[in-house]
Amino acid sequence: MTSRPPSVVDSSPSVDTERFDVTDPADDAVVGSAPRDGAAEVRAAIDQAAAGQPDWASRSAGARAEIMDAVAASLIHETEPLAAIITSEQGKPLREARAEVAYAAGFFTVAARECVRLDDETIPVPGKLAEVRHRPIGVAAAITPWNFPLAMLAKKTAAALAVGCSQLVKPAEQTPLSAMRLARIAVDSGVPVGVLGIVTGPPDVLGEAMFGDPRLRKVSFTGSTEVGRLLIARSAANIIPLSLELGGHAPMLVFDDADLGLAIDLAMTAKFRNGGQTCIAPNRFLVQAGIHDRFVEGLVERASALTSGRGGDDLDLGPLIDDAAVAKVQRHIDDAVSHGASVALGGGLRSIAGLADRFPEPTVLLQTGPKMQCWREETFGPVCPIRRFTSEDEAIELANASPYGLAGYVATGSCERGSRVASRLDCGIIGVNDGLPAVPDVPFGGVKQSGFGREGGRLGLQEYLEPITISRRT
Ligand code: ADP
Repeated sequence: MTSRPPSVVDSSPSVDTERFDVTDPADDAVVGSAPRDGAAEVRAAIDQAAAGQPDWASRSAGARAEIMDAVAASLIHETEPLAAIITSEQGKPLREARAEVAYAAGFFTVAARECVRLDDETIPVPGKLAEVRHRPIGVAAAITPWNFPLAMLAKKTAAALAVGCSQLVKPAEQTPLSAMRLARIAVDSGVPVGVLGIVTGPPDVLGEAMFGDPRLRKVSFTGSTEVGRLLIARSAANIIPLSLELGGHAPMLVFDDADLGLAIDLAMTAKFRNGGQTCIAPNRFLVQAGIHDRFVEGLVERASALTSGRGGDDLDLGPLIDDAAVAKVQRHIDDAVSHGASVALGGGLRSIAGLADRFPEPTVLLQTGPKMQCWREETFGPVCPIRRFTSEDEAIELANASPYGLAGYVATGSCERGSRVASRLDCGIIGVNDGLPAVPDVPFGGVKQSGFGREGGRLGLQEYLEPITISRRT
Protein backbone atom coordinates (compact mmCIF):
# COMPACT_ATOMS: atom_id res chain seq x y z
CA MET A 1 0.00 0.00 0.00
CA THR A 2 1.32 3.44 -0.86
CA SER A 3 1.45 5.80 2.04
CA ARG A 4 -0.84 8.72 1.27
CA PRO A 5 0.15 12.24 2.24
CA PRO A 6 -1.45 12.83 5.62
CA SER A 7 -3.59 15.66 4.59
CA VAL A 8 -6.03 13.99 6.18
CA VAL A 9 -8.95 15.83 5.16
CA ASP A 10 -9.71 13.97 2.01
CA SER A 11 -12.99 12.15 2.01
CA SER A 12 -12.95 11.30 -1.65
CA PRO A 13 -11.68 7.99 -2.94
CA SER A 14 -8.07 8.15 -4.04
CA VAL A 15 -6.48 5.68 -6.36
CA ASP A 16 -3.47 4.68 -4.33
CA THR A 17 -5.06 4.00 -0.97
CA GLU A 18 -7.00 0.98 0.12
CA ARG A 19 -10.36 1.95 1.55
CA PHE A 20 -13.04 0.35 3.67
CA ASP A 21 -16.79 0.77 3.38
CA VAL A 22 -18.93 2.68 5.83
CA THR A 23 -22.50 1.44 6.13
CA ASP A 24 -25.86 2.63 7.44
CA PRO A 25 -26.72 0.43 10.44
CA ALA A 26 -30.39 0.59 9.47
CA ASP A 27 -29.94 -1.54 6.35
CA ASP A 28 -26.22 -2.07 5.75
CA ALA A 29 -26.31 0.17 2.65
CA VAL A 30 -22.86 1.50 1.81
CA VAL A 31 -22.86 5.25 2.48
CA GLY A 32 -19.19 6.06 1.98
CA SER A 33 -15.66 4.86 2.48
CA ALA A 34 -12.52 5.82 4.35
CA PRO A 35 -8.82 5.11 3.88
CA ARG A 36 -7.48 1.96 5.49
CA ASP A 37 -4.48 3.62 7.10
CA GLY A 38 -1.63 1.92 8.87
CA ALA A 39 1.50 2.69 10.84
CA ALA A 40 3.07 4.64 7.94
CA GLU A 41 0.15 7.08 7.82
CA VAL A 42 0.26 7.53 11.59
CA ARG A 43 3.95 8.35 11.38
CA ALA A 44 3.41 10.77 8.50
CA ALA A 45 0.53 12.49 10.30
CA ILE A 46 2.62 12.85 13.47
CA ASP A 47 5.49 14.26 11.35
CA GLN A 48 3.14 16.98 10.16
CA ALA A 49 1.55 17.54 13.54
CA ALA A 50 4.95 17.89 15.18
CA ALA A 51 6.21 20.22 12.44
CA GLY A 52 3.16 22.47 12.54
CA GLN A 53 2.59 22.66 16.28
CA PRO A 54 5.23 25.25 17.30
CA ASP A 55 3.92 27.83 14.84
CA TRP A 56 0.31 27.14 15.85
CA ALA A 57 1.25 27.48 19.54
CA SER A 58 3.10 30.73 18.88
CA ARG A 59 -0.02 32.44 17.59
CA SER A 60 -1.93 34.52 20.09
CA ALA A 61 -4.82 32.90 21.91
CA GLY A 62 -7.04 35.54 20.31
CA ALA A 63 -5.96 34.47 16.83
CA ARG A 64 -6.69 30.83 17.58
CA ALA A 65 -10.01 31.81 19.19
CA GLU A 66 -11.05 33.53 15.96
CA ILE A 67 -10.43 30.30 14.07
CA MET A 68 -12.33 28.26 16.68
CA ASP A 69 -15.27 30.64 16.31
CA ALA A 70 -15.05 30.26 12.54
CA VAL A 71 -15.16 26.46 12.90
CA ALA A 72 -18.26 26.78 15.11
CA ALA A 73 -19.95 29.04 12.57
CA SER A 74 -19.14 26.65 9.70
CA LEU A 75 -20.47 23.68 11.62
CA ILE A 76 -23.75 25.49 12.20
CA HIS A 77 -23.83 26.61 8.58
CA GLU A 78 -23.32 23.00 7.47
CA THR A 79 -25.85 21.53 9.87
CA GLU A 80 -27.90 19.77 7.20
CA PRO A 81 -25.09 17.99 5.33
CA LEU A 82 -23.36 17.11 8.59
CA ALA A 83 -26.55 15.79 10.15
CA ALA A 84 -27.14 13.69 7.03
CA ILE A 85 -23.65 12.18 7.35
CA ILE A 86 -24.06 11.44 11.06
CA THR A 87 -27.42 9.82 10.51
CA SER A 88 -26.26 7.74 7.59
CA GLU A 89 -23.21 6.26 9.32
CA GLN A 90 -24.48 6.13 12.90
CA GLY A 91 -28.22 5.63 12.51
CA LYS A 92 -29.65 8.21 14.89
CA PRO A 93 -32.76 10.17 13.88
CA LEU A 94 -32.02 13.32 11.90
CA ARG A 95 -33.35 15.64 14.61
CA GLU A 96 -30.83 14.16 17.03
CA ALA A 97 -28.07 14.45 14.45
CA ARG A 98 -28.91 18.15 14.03
CA ALA A 99 -28.76 18.56 17.80
CA GLU A 100 -25.39 16.83 17.77
CA VAL A 101 -24.05 19.34 15.26
CA ALA A 102 -25.13 22.22 17.52
CA TYR A 103 -23.60 20.44 20.52
CA ALA A 104 -20.33 19.98 18.58
CA ALA A 105 -20.27 23.63 17.52
CA GLY A 106 -20.74 24.60 21.16
CA PHE A 107 -17.38 23.07 22.08
CA PHE A 108 -15.60 25.33 19.60
CA THR A 109 -17.47 28.38 20.89
CA VAL A 110 -16.60 27.55 24.49
CA ALA A 111 -12.97 26.80 23.60
CA ALA A 112 -12.72 30.16 21.82
CA ARG A 113 -14.15 31.94 24.84
CA GLU A 114 -12.00 30.14 27.38
CA CYS A 115 -8.63 30.00 25.64
CA VAL A 116 -8.22 33.77 25.82
CA ARG A 117 -8.82 33.69 29.57
CA LEU A 118 -6.16 31.17 30.51
CA ASP A 119 -3.68 33.13 32.55
CA ASP A 120 -0.16 32.41 33.64
CA GLU A 121 0.47 32.96 37.35
CA THR A 122 3.17 34.54 39.45
CA ILE A 123 3.80 33.24 42.94
CA PRO A 124 5.88 35.35 45.32
CA VAL A 125 8.38 33.24 47.27
CA PRO A 126 10.83 34.79 49.80
CA GLY A 127 13.80 36.06 47.79
CA LYS A 128 12.37 34.84 44.51
CA LEU A 129 9.62 35.30 42.04
CA ALA A 130 8.11 32.15 40.61
CA GLU A 131 6.13 32.17 37.43
CA VAL A 132 3.89 29.35 36.24
CA ARG A 133 3.38 29.19 32.50
CA HIS A 134 0.72 26.90 31.09
CA ARG A 135 2.26 25.47 27.98
CA PRO A 136 0.47 23.41 25.31
CA ILE A 137 1.49 19.82 25.78
CA GLY A 138 2.42 19.38 22.08
CA VAL A 139 1.08 16.72 19.74
CA ALA A 140 -2.16 15.27 21.09
CA ALA A 141 -4.37 12.46 19.83
CA ALA A 142 -8.10 11.85 20.02
CA ILE A 143 -9.61 8.36 19.87
CA THR A 144 -13.37 8.63 19.61
CA PRO A 145 -16.43 6.36 19.64
CA TRP A 146 -19.26 5.90 17.16
CA ASN A 147 -22.20 7.01 19.29
CA PHE A 148 -21.63 10.77 18.92
CA PRO A 149 -19.17 10.73 16.04
CA LEU A 150 -19.04 14.49 15.60
CA ALA A 151 -19.50 15.79 19.13
CA MET A 152 -17.10 13.43 20.92
CA LEU A 153 -14.45 14.53 18.50
CA ALA A 154 -15.36 18.22 18.62
CA LYS A 155 -14.91 18.34 22.38
CA LYS A 156 -11.37 17.00 22.07
CA THR A 157 -10.36 18.89 18.93
CA ALA A 158 -11.68 22.26 20.10
CA ALA A 159 -9.85 22.07 23.43
CA ALA A 160 -6.56 20.82 21.98
CA LEU A 161 -6.39 23.28 19.11
CA ALA A 162 -7.57 26.28 21.13
CA VAL A 163 -4.63 26.03 23.53
CA GLY A 164 -2.04 25.50 20.78
CA CYS A 165 -1.67 21.73 20.53
CA SER A 166 -1.82 19.90 17.25
CA GLN A 167 -4.00 16.83 17.14
CA LEU A 168 -4.13 13.49 15.40
CA VAL A 169 -7.64 12.09 15.28
CA LYS A 170 -8.66 8.44 15.10
CA PRO A 171 -12.43 8.13 14.77
CA ALA A 172 -14.31 4.88 15.27
CA GLU A 173 -14.16 2.60 12.25
CA GLN A 174 -18.00 2.57 12.06
CA THR A 175 -18.23 6.38 11.78
CA PRO A 176 -15.23 8.03 10.11
CA LEU A 177 -17.21 10.19 7.67
CA SER A 178 -18.33 12.92 10.05
CA ALA A 179 -14.79 13.12 11.46
CA MET A 180 -13.37 13.57 7.96
CA ARG A 181 -15.92 16.30 7.30
CA LEU A 182 -15.04 18.05 10.57
CA ALA A 183 -11.35 17.97 9.63
CA ARG A 184 -12.18 19.53 6.26
CA ILE A 185 -14.27 22.25 7.92
CA ALA A 186 -11.51 22.99 10.42
CA VAL A 187 -8.91 23.37 7.68
CA ASP A 188 -11.25 25.52 5.57
CA SER A 189 -11.80 27.69 8.63
CA GLY A 190 -8.09 28.37 9.07
CA VAL A 191 -6.58 25.48 11.04
CA PRO A 192 -3.30 24.73 9.24
CA VAL A 193 -3.21 21.44 7.35
CA GLY A 194 -1.32 18.91 9.43
CA VAL A 195 -2.03 20.67 12.73
CA LEU A 196 -5.21 18.61 12.59
CA GLY A 197 -4.62 15.16 11.10
CA ILE A 198 -6.87 12.15 10.79
CA VAL A 199 -6.19 8.46 10.40
CA THR A 200 -8.85 5.85 9.78
CA GLY A 201 -8.68 2.08 9.74
CA PRO A 202 -7.93 -0.87 12.00
CA PRO A 203 -7.87 0.42 15.60
CA ASP A 204 -5.28 -1.95 16.94
CA VAL A 205 -2.73 -1.15 14.23
CA LEU A 206 -3.30 2.59 14.45
CA GLY A 207 -3.35 2.58 18.25
CA GLU A 208 -0.09 0.68 18.46
CA ALA A 209 1.61 3.09 16.05
CA MET A 210 0.29 6.11 17.91
CA PHE A 211 1.32 4.95 21.36
CA GLY A 212 4.69 3.80 20.03
CA ASP A 213 5.65 7.29 18.83
CA PRO A 214 7.39 9.30 21.55
CA ARG A 215 6.41 12.57 19.88
CA LEU A 216 2.81 11.97 20.88
CA ARG A 217 2.37 13.68 24.25
CA LYS A 218 -1.30 13.24 25.06
CA VAL A 219 -4.15 10.88 24.25
CA SER A 220 -7.78 11.66 24.96
CA PHE A 221 -10.01 8.62 24.59
CA THR A 222 -13.75 8.09 24.81
CA GLY A 223 -14.92 4.49 24.63
CA SER A 224 -15.23 1.28 26.56
CA THR A 225 -13.58 0.63 29.91
CA GLU A 226 -12.01 -2.47 28.38
CA VAL A 227 -10.17 -0.53 25.66
CA GLY A 228 -9.40 2.22 28.20
CA ARG A 229 -7.54 -0.35 30.30
CA LEU A 230 -5.57 -1.46 27.27
CA LEU A 231 -4.61 2.13 26.47
CA ILE A 232 -3.46 2.73 30.05
CA ALA A 233 -1.13 -0.23 29.63
CA ARG A 234 0.08 1.07 26.25
CA SER A 235 0.66 4.54 27.63
CA ALA A 236 3.22 3.16 30.09
CA ALA A 237 6.01 2.79 27.54
CA ASN A 238 6.33 6.49 26.67
CA ILE A 239 4.53 7.81 29.81
CA ILE A 240 1.77 9.36 27.75
CA PRO A 241 -0.75 11.43 29.74
CA LEU A 242 -4.30 10.25 29.19
CA SER A 243 -7.81 11.59 29.56
CA LEU A 244 -10.28 8.72 29.60
CA GLU A 245 -14.04 8.88 29.37
CA LEU A 246 -15.07 5.26 29.75
CA GLY A 247 -18.21 3.27 30.36
CA GLY A 248 -20.98 4.43 32.64
CA HIS A 249 -23.86 2.86 34.49
CA ALA A 250 -25.95 5.83 35.50
CA PRO A 251 -28.47 5.51 38.30
CA MET A 252 -31.64 7.60 38.18
CA LEU A 253 -33.22 8.19 41.58
CA VAL A 254 -36.88 9.16 41.56
CA PHE A 255 -38.21 10.28 44.94
CA ASP A 256 -41.81 10.37 46.14
CA ASP A 257 -41.72 14.17 46.19
CA ALA A 258 -40.78 14.42 42.48
CA ASP A 259 -43.10 16.05 39.97
CA LEU A 260 -44.32 12.93 38.16
CA GLY A 261 -44.46 14.49 34.69
CA LEU A 262 -41.01 15.97 35.05
CA ALA A 263 -39.55 12.68 36.33
CA ILE A 264 -40.95 10.85 33.32
CA ASP A 265 -39.66 13.55 30.95
CA LEU A 266 -36.28 13.16 32.56
CA ALA A 267 -36.30 9.40 32.08
CA MET A 268 -37.46 9.66 28.46
CA THR A 269 -34.83 12.25 27.56
CA ALA A 270 -31.92 10.65 29.32
CA LYS A 271 -32.73 7.05 28.39
CA PHE A 272 -34.02 7.06 24.84
CA ARG A 273 -31.74 9.63 23.22
CA ASN A 274 -29.73 7.81 20.54
CA GLY A 275 -31.77 4.69 21.30
CA GLY A 276 -30.08 4.35 24.68
CA GLN A 277 -26.62 4.34 23.13
CA THR A 278 -25.14 7.08 25.29
CA CYS A 279 -22.63 6.64 28.08
CA ILE A 280 -24.73 8.84 30.36
CA ALA A 281 -28.00 6.94 29.76
CA PRO A 282 -29.63 5.77 33.00
CA ASN A 283 -29.10 2.03 33.37
CA ARG A 284 -30.70 1.64 36.79
CA PHE A 285 -33.94 3.37 37.75
CA LEU A 286 -34.41 3.53 41.51
CA VAL A 287 -37.94 4.61 42.23
CA GLN A 288 -39.36 5.30 45.69
CA ALA A 289 -42.31 3.15 46.77
CA GLY A 290 -44.88 5.96 46.93
CA ILE A 291 -44.40 7.06 43.29
CA HIS A 292 -43.24 3.73 41.82
CA ASP A 293 -46.48 2.49 40.26
CA ARG A 294 -47.48 5.87 38.82
CA PHE A 295 -43.97 6.37 37.43
CA VAL A 296 -44.00 2.93 35.79
CA GLU A 297 -47.45 3.51 34.32
CA GLY A 298 -46.44 6.89 32.88
CA LEU A 299 -43.10 5.64 31.57
CA VAL A 300 -44.70 2.62 29.90
CA GLU A 301 -47.31 4.84 28.26
CA ARG A 302 -44.72 7.29 26.91
CA ALA A 303 -42.16 4.65 25.89
CA SER A 304 -44.74 2.51 24.10
CA ALA A 305 -45.54 5.47 21.84
CA LEU A 306 -41.93 5.71 20.58
CA THR A 307 -41.60 4.95 16.89
CA SER A 308 -38.63 3.24 15.25
CA GLY A 309 -37.15 3.52 11.79
CA ARG A 310 -34.19 4.44 9.63
CA GLY A 311 -32.42 7.51 10.99
CA GLY A 312 -33.16 9.41 7.80
CA ASP A 313 -36.90 8.90 8.38
CA ASP A 314 -36.48 10.88 11.59
CA LEU A 315 -38.69 8.84 13.90
CA ASP A 316 -37.99 8.49 17.62
CA LEU A 317 -35.56 5.57 17.62
CA GLY A 318 -32.99 4.56 15.03
CA PRO A 319 -31.26 1.19 14.76
CA LEU A 320 -28.61 -0.02 17.17
CA ILE A 321 -25.13 0.20 15.73
CA ASP A 322 -24.64 -3.49 14.90
CA ASP A 323 -25.80 -7.05 15.52
CA ALA A 324 -23.57 -7.48 18.56
CA ALA A 325 -25.28 -4.50 20.20
CA VAL A 326 -28.70 -6.05 19.52
CA ALA A 327 -27.57 -9.40 20.92
CA LYS A 328 -26.30 -7.70 24.09
CA VAL A 329 -29.62 -5.96 24.69
CA GLN A 330 -31.49 -9.24 24.24
CA ARG A 331 -29.04 -11.04 26.53
CA HIS A 332 -29.62 -8.44 29.24
CA ILE A 333 -33.39 -8.72 28.93
CA ASP A 334 -33.35 -12.54 28.97
CA ASP A 335 -30.94 -12.60 31.90
CA ALA A 336 -33.11 -10.17 33.90
CA VAL A 337 -36.22 -12.26 33.24
CA SER A 338 -34.40 -15.45 34.22
CA HIS A 339 -33.52 -13.77 37.53
CA GLY A 340 -37.11 -12.78 38.28
CA ALA A 341 -37.67 -9.46 36.48
CA SER A 342 -41.07 -8.89 34.93
CA VAL A 343 -41.50 -7.21 31.55
CA ALA A 344 -43.84 -4.21 31.73
CA LEU A 345 -43.15 -3.22 28.13
CA GLY A 346 -41.32 -4.60 25.11
CA GLY A 347 -38.70 -7.27 25.52
CA GLY A 348 -38.27 -8.15 21.86
CA LEU A 349 -37.33 -6.75 18.46
CA ARG A 350 -39.36 -4.64 16.07
CA SER A 351 -39.36 -5.97 12.57
CA ILE A 352 -39.38 -3.19 9.97
CA ALA A 353 -39.79 -4.02 6.30
CA GLY A 354 -36.63 -3.55 4.31
CA LEU A 355 -34.47 -2.84 7.38
CA ALA A 356 -32.05 -4.94 9.41
CA ASP A 357 -33.17 -6.58 12.67
CA ARG A 358 -31.56 -3.91 14.82
CA PHE A 359 -34.56 -2.22 16.39
CA PRO A 360 -35.18 -3.44 19.94
CA GLU A 361 -38.55 -2.49 21.36
CA PRO A 362 -38.53 0.15 24.05
CA THR A 363 -38.43 -2.06 27.12
CA VAL A 364 -39.35 -1.53 30.77
CA LEU A 365 -38.30 -4.20 33.29
CA LEU A 366 -39.58 -4.32 36.87
CA GLN A 367 -38.18 -5.94 40.03
CA THR A 368 -34.64 -5.72 38.69
CA GLY A 369 -31.58 -5.82 40.91
CA PRO A 370 -27.87 -6.33 41.40
CA LYS A 371 -27.83 -10.02 40.43
CA MET A 372 -28.79 -9.13 36.87
CA GLN A 373 -26.37 -8.27 34.05
CA CYS A 374 -28.36 -5.16 33.18
CA TRP A 375 -27.67 -3.91 36.67
CA ARG A 376 -23.90 -4.34 36.32
CA GLU A 377 -22.99 -3.79 32.65
CA GLU A 378 -23.86 -0.94 30.31
CA THR A 379 -26.78 -2.15 28.14
CA PHE A 380 -26.47 0.55 25.43
CA GLY A 381 -30.04 0.07 24.27
CA PRO A 382 -33.61 1.23 25.00
CA VAL A 383 -34.06 -0.77 28.20
CA CYS A 384 -35.23 0.67 31.54
CA PRO A 385 -34.53 -1.63 34.51
CA ILE A 386 -36.57 -0.38 37.47
CA ARG A 387 -36.25 -1.17 41.18
CA ARG A 388 -38.40 0.03 44.05
CA PHE A 389 -36.75 1.53 47.15
CA THR A 390 -37.95 2.85 50.47
CA SER A 391 -35.37 5.13 52.08
CA GLU A 392 -32.95 7.72 50.72
CA ASP A 393 -30.00 5.89 52.27
CA GLU A 394 -31.01 2.64 50.60
CA ALA A 395 -31.26 4.35 47.20
CA ILE A 396 -27.86 6.00 47.53
CA GLU A 397 -26.25 2.77 48.62
CA LEU A 398 -27.70 0.94 45.62
CA ALA A 399 -26.76 3.77 43.27
CA ASN A 400 -23.15 3.79 44.43
CA ALA A 401 -22.78 0.01 44.35
CA SER A 402 -21.19 0.08 40.91
CA PRO A 403 -17.61 0.18 39.69
CA TYR A 404 -18.68 2.98 37.34
CA GLY A 405 -19.36 6.62 38.13
CA LEU A 406 -20.04 8.75 35.08
CA ALA A 407 -23.53 10.28 35.26
CA GLY A 408 -26.33 10.15 37.80
CA TYR A 409 -29.82 11.67 37.94
CA VAL A 410 -32.11 12.73 40.73
CA ALA A 411 -35.80 13.61 40.39
CA THR A 412 -37.11 15.36 43.47
CA GLY A 413 -39.32 18.30 44.39
CA SER A 414 -37.00 19.28 47.20
CA CYS A 415 -33.97 21.50 46.54
CA GLU A 416 -32.49 20.38 49.80
CA ARG A 417 -32.81 16.70 48.93
CA GLY A 418 -31.48 17.31 45.42
CA SER A 419 -28.37 18.93 46.77
CA ARG A 420 -27.91 16.40 49.59
CA VAL A 421 -28.31 13.35 47.36
CA ALA A 422 -26.11 14.81 44.61
CA SER A 423 -23.31 15.35 47.10
CA ARG A 424 -23.45 11.67 48.10
CA LEU A 425 -23.60 10.11 44.61
CA ASP A 426 -20.29 8.78 43.28
CA CYS A 427 -20.74 10.21 39.78
CA GLY A 428 -18.80 12.80 37.78
CA ILE A 429 -21.87 14.57 36.45
CA ILE A 430 -25.25 14.68 38.14
CA GLY A 431 -28.52 16.00 36.75
CA VAL A 432 -30.96 17.13 39.42
CA ASN A 433 -34.29 17.39 37.62
CA ASP A 434 -32.12 17.70 34.50
CA GLY A 435 -32.02 14.99 31.85
CA LEU A 436 -29.30 16.68 29.78
CA PRO A 437 -26.59 17.76 32.22
CA ALA A 438 -23.70 17.49 29.71
CA VAL A 439 -23.31 20.77 27.82
CA PRO A 440 -20.11 22.25 26.34
CA ASP A 441 -19.78 24.89 29.06
CA VAL A 442 -19.31 22.48 31.95
CA PRO A 443 -16.73 19.83 32.82
CA PHE A 444 -17.74 16.31 31.91
CA GLY A 445 -16.05 13.10 33.00
CA GLY A 446 -16.23 10.21 35.39
CA VAL A 447 -15.01 8.87 38.69
CA LYS A 448 -14.03 5.29 39.56
CA GLN A 449 -13.82 3.03 36.48
CA SER A 450 -15.58 5.60 34.31
CA GLY A 451 -12.21 7.24 33.81
CA PHE A 452 -10.37 10.42 34.62
CA GLY A 453 -9.85 13.85 33.15
CA ARG A 454 -12.55 16.31 32.16
CA GLU A 455 -13.86 17.65 28.88
CA GLY A 456 -15.88 20.81 28.34
CA GLY A 457 -15.52 24.25 29.87
CA ARG A 458 -12.21 25.62 31.04
CA LEU A 459 -11.14 22.36 32.68
CA GLY A 460 -11.42 20.67 29.30
CA LEU A 461 -8.75 23.00 27.93
CA GLN A 462 -6.49 22.39 30.87
CA GLU A 463 -6.13 18.73 29.90
CA TYR A 464 -3.94 19.92 27.01
CA LEU A 465 -1.70 22.23 29.04
CA GLU A 466 1.23 21.50 31.28
CA PRO A 467 2.28 23.95 33.97
CA ILE A 468 5.94 24.94 33.78
CA THR A 469 7.43 26.73 36.78
CA ILE A 470 10.17 29.30 36.27
CA SER A 471 11.82 30.49 39.45
CA ARG A 472 13.93 33.69 39.54
CA ARG A 473 16.01 35.04 42.41
CA THR A 474 15.10 38.65 43.10
P1 ADP B 1 -17.34 0.67 21.73
O1 ADP B 1 -17.44 -0.56 22.56
O2 ADP B 1 -18.26 1.75 22.12
O3 ADP B 1 -17.26 0.44 20.25
P2 ADP B 1 -14.52 0.90 21.91
O4 ADP B 1 -13.83 1.18 23.19
O5 ADP B 1 -14.36 -0.44 21.30
O6 ADP B 1 -16.00 1.32 22.16
O7 ADP B 1 -14.09 1.97 20.80
C1 ADP B 1 -13.89 3.33 21.05
C2 ADP B 1 -12.75 3.81 20.19
O8 ADP B 1 -11.59 3.09 20.55
C3 ADP B 1 -12.94 3.57 18.70
O9 ADP B 1 -12.36 4.66 17.99
C4 ADP B 1 -12.16 2.31 18.46
O10 ADP B 1 -11.71 2.18 17.13
C5 ADP B 1 -10.99 2.56 19.38
N1 ADP B 1 -10.23 1.35 19.72
C6 ADP B 1 -10.68 0.10 19.92
N2 ADP B 1 -9.64 -0.74 20.17
C7 ADP B 1 -8.51 0.01 20.13
C8 ADP B 1 -7.11 -0.26 20.29
N3 ADP B 1 -6.67 -1.50 20.55
N4 ADP B 1 -6.23 0.77 20.18
C9 ADP B 1 -6.67 2.01 19.92
N5 ADP B 1 -7.97 2.33 19.73
C10 ADP B 1 -8.88 1.35 19.84
